[in-house]
Amino acid sequence: MNEHFDILVVGAGPAGIAAAVSASASGKRVGLVDDNPAPGGQIWRSGTPAGAEARKWLARLDTSSVFRLQGWRVIDHPKHGTLRVESDQDCRDLCYEKLILATGARERFLPFPGWTIPNVMGAGGLDAMVRGGLPIAGKRVVVGGTGPLLLAVAAHLARRGAKIVAVCEQAPLRRFVPFAAYLLREPAKLLQGIDYLTATRGTRFYTGCWPIAARGKEKLESVSLQQSGKNWKVRCDYLACGYHLVPNLELAALIGCRIEDGFVATDDMLQTSVAGVFCAGEPTGIGGVELALLEGKIAGLAAAAGPAAVEKLVSHRRRRLRFVHALRSATALDPQLRKLATETTLVCRCEDVSYGALRKHVSWRDAKLQTRCGMGPCQGRICGAATEFLFGWDSALVESNIRPPIFPVMVSSLGIPDDNQACPGDKNTVADTPTGTPKETR
Ligand SMILES: Cc1cc2nc3c(=O)[nH]c(=O)nc-3n(C[C@H](O)[C@H](O)[C@H](O)COP(=O)(O)OP(=O)(O)OC[C@H]3O[C@@H](n4cnc5c(N)ncnc54)[C@H](O)[C@@H]3O)c2cc1C
Repeated sequence: MNEHFDILVVGAGPAGIAAAVSASASGKRVGLVDDNPAPGGQIWRSGTPAGAEARKWLARLDTSSVFRLQGWRVIDHPKHGTLRVESDQDCRDLCYEKLILATGARERFLPFPGWTIPNVMGAGGLDAMVRGGLPIAGKRVVVGGTGPLLLAVAAHLARRGAKIVAVCEQAPLRRFVPFAAYLLREPAKLLQGIDYLTATRGTRFYTGCWPIAARGKEKLESVSLQQSGKNWKVRCDYLACGYHLVPNLELAALIGCRIEDGFVATDDMLQTSVAGVFCAGEPTGIGGVELALLEGKIAGLAAAAGPAAVEKLVSHRRRRLRFVHALRSATALDPQLRKLATETTLVCRCEDVSYGALRKHVSWRDAKLQTRCGMGPCQGRICGAATEFLFGWDSALVESNIRPPIFPVMVSSLGIPDDNQACPGDKNTVADTPTGTPKETR
């Protein structure tokens, strides 16, 4: 059975919820599809103590007319105006007049010796597992990598009773001096920072510092840290480590949206290069929950009612982007992080491909053909982002590298014809060139 929508939103994180709720106020038939069993995305996932903002948006969604498809994953875009979705038991097509992509982001891992040992995890990954019930009280945790996520995760784990042994930010302290001026103009962010610091009172914070090796027989026992050429070892039960979030671009690339500097290019209305397809939240640039909500509102209103509905929000967004750019340049990755992996360190952990094997190749495509790098179950979602930084290879996610289905699927889902007549379909139209400023550049 197929469903028809005036506006279809993919992703029920803050951006997708705001887009769907805002669009549905116009009376249009709006659908919201997400692969998790409940709405909320990364930050408001179930198990998270819901703050006032989260409660407000989740309640608005509950009382809206939005048709929700939770537990459905978009796997293909067989033709313009149609998305193919799959659940645990079923596969169907969703037809749309307009589409809003709010597919969020995932963590970037940089390989180092020992990074595949059990209990070495992404910072957001460990946080999510604790929210899902993993007992952390009394465990010794090192948090490393870069960006504000480290502080958020350290604070949450500390509040759940973890002993945070160290927080290691790879960027040097001097880079945060210009950023402090932006922070003073953002009282909400400043208060959030103070809250995190209060929760992690007594923790050692290091800047210009990162994990260089993890050791342990069956699971993690210790981590070696490096700062200014000095190395030392700390005992710990968990290492939570992530180097920025990277956007989930697969669907946008499959649809043919232009990708620029690693993000979906949009104009100020968040219209992409494909007519009728909008994009909001992390895929347009990593900006945090407030920007994701703002962009969701802009995309939802612009898709439902056109540009006049969003003028004020657009100038608000421009102001927020300045803060995001300042944070991004403060936490730019140190080139020394390219030297963390040794010849035998695995980079593609699905297909067991080492740094030494990859180093001999000149491009992502070449490496993929010769080594099977990126051809395992995660389809390059982990090693693609790592090789971008390590070797400067073209993104694994450029349009020409994306083929459907974008996730592993049930065999039965492969048998559905692409010329399914239930959706009217259309030719793939190209929008006017996006003119807005991308949220960030790398
Ligand atoms: C542990 C953690 C703590 C954080 N703390 C803070 C904080 O304190 N302050 C802050 O500003 N930000 C924080 N962030 C960042 C914040 O989560 C993001 O900025 C925000 O969630 C972005 O919202 P989004 O809607 O763009 O994406 P997401 O929240 O990532 O939502 C995207 C949704 O789309 C779904 N999806 C993707 N592809 C498909 C598909 N093909 N089919 C179906 N569904 C799909 C995903 O499963 C997900 O549910 C934190 C992030 C993490 C991981």
